[in-house]
Amino acid sequence: MGIFRKRFAAVSPLQAENNQKNAESVEGKIERLFAEAKALPWEDSEKKVTIYTDLLDLITKSDTSANPSAVYRNRGIAYRSLKRYAEAMQDFRAELDLAQRQGDRLRTMQCQQIIEETEASKRKDEIAAAGGEKAEKLQTMDRDKFMVWGEGLEADKAFDRYFADLTDADCDIRAEAARILGESPKAVQRLIAIYQSCRGNDPRRASLAGRVLGRNAAKGSDEMIHAEISRMLYGLDLSFLPCPCVHCGRINRGIPAPPRAPWVPYYHQDNDRGAYAVPVLCDSCGKDFYVVWDQDPR
Ligand SMILES: [Zn+2]
Repeated sequence: MGIFRKRFAAVSPLQAENNQKNAESVEGKIERLFAEAKALPWEDSEKKVTIYTDLLDLITKSDTSANPSAVYRNRGIAYRSLKRYAEAMQDFRAELDLAQRQGDRLRTMQCQQIIEETEASKRKDEIAAAGGEKAEKLQTMDRDKFMVWGEGLEADKAFDRYFADLTDADCDIRAEAARILGESPKAVQRLIAIYQSCRGNDPRRASLAGRVLGRNAAKGSDEMIHAEISRMLYGLDLSFLPCPCVHCGRINRGIPAPPRAPWVPYYHQDNDRGAYAVPVLCDSCGKDFYVVWDQDPR
């Protein structure tokens, strides 16, 4: 996104000419600094932060039409690469706030995605710093993650290990396994195959596979994902729903369901009694619950 946005104001022609002269010099400087900061390599993140901070100062103090969104985003990313998470989050939230006020839905969703990813990185760093078995496990998972990008016996074995981690007792391990599988196109193909072959005879396994796909599709949003999107992303006739856990109340996103399911009322319960039910393993508390329909949505 560019840094400037067209702006109109009621001013006299002379004033307008003067304003334009002043604005051009400030805006020229803003553009130059922005390009300079962007061109710096990641090792120079400290320098990036300094330039972006000057830029924000310039934008807020001068009468320009520059939009600070891109500066907040880029400074946030620079802070994040320095592991200064609190400052990074502050910038991403400032950008989110602007996007929401401007009614920019796409940018709002991007910001929510970035905030989620940043929270996940922060969490991983905290676990690594604490050390112990869990830190080691996460480190191994990270080290071997590209194995699920390949083909052959080793890739099959790696896929099975990460798929098993989706039901681990620890929520951070489950989330990491889902992220790793969701990022690999080859793993996504396998998940699609599992969903298709298991949805009739092993709904829990189908649901575990489908949720990795659903979480990916629903990243940054608690909204329903309709079948058109799922057909486009995965070639699957599915919708993905959000539903709070019946035990802990936390929202679980990306629950795979039939394409018509969003239009038929559904609720959560701790058993599968109903016309149709989808089992869900809660992302937060790790207990099983069911999304249930009184009328079959298929
Ligand atoms: Zn729960």
